[in-house]
Amino acid sequence: MNPRTITLHDCDFSTYLYEEEIIARITMLAEQISEEYKGKNPLFLAVLNGSFMFASDLMKRISIPCEISFIRLSSYRDMESTGNVKEVLGLTEDVKGRHVVVLEDIVDTGHTVHNLINQLRAKGPASVEVASLLLKPDCLQHKLDVKYVAKSIPNDFVVGYGLDYNGLGRNLRDIYKIVS
Ligand code: 5GP
Ligand code: MG
Ligand code: MG
Repeated sequence: MNPRTITLHDCDFSTYLYEEEIIARITMLAEQISEEYKGKNPLFLAVLNGSFMFASDLMKRISIPCEISFIRLSSYRDMESTGNVKEVLGLTEDVKGRHVVVLEDIVDTGHTVHNLINQLRAKGPASVEVASLLLKPDCLQHKLDVKYVAKSIPNDFVVGYGLDYNGLGRNLRDIYKIVS
């Protein structure tokens, strides 16, 4: 397939991961998770907004009884991750004793997920794991075990399939990376 280029705000992006590959990888992840969480009635917590497409496509392929709910983290802006601690908003489920799987769009420095996991652990779940669509291993600043990753990518800014650049791009079915 020929690469496609789009412009969002002031930046150009070109196709990087096509929908078919994304879905193929998510399907494998869903099979693995379904196998490993048999009999555990896991509670998936999708982190909005970025994980909405990933969560949807993953959940359709989970073949065991499970629950899904949605949380938000207090603000995050622009292209760079800030060092701020983000508070969990909208968690109405009791996670005590539950097997929790956090669904994230992307783990970059790991700061967000590190923090989120600590906040969830304080509530006494039976276990907490992370499933992330994307991981930038070269950027990780925390000793983090992101157990389920659809794809590891280099340190390039990406948009599409739920991920945004200042609000734009979440609706794209493919993932694009910034043209530098
Ligand atoms: P971390 O705390 O791991 O550094 O950053 C996680 C958050 O930063 C992600 O949930 C996402 O919102 C944002 N982020 C990090 N890298 C990218 C990227 O390449 N593209 C987009 N759109 N967001 C990113
Ligand atoms: Mg995120
Ligand atoms: Mg964003």
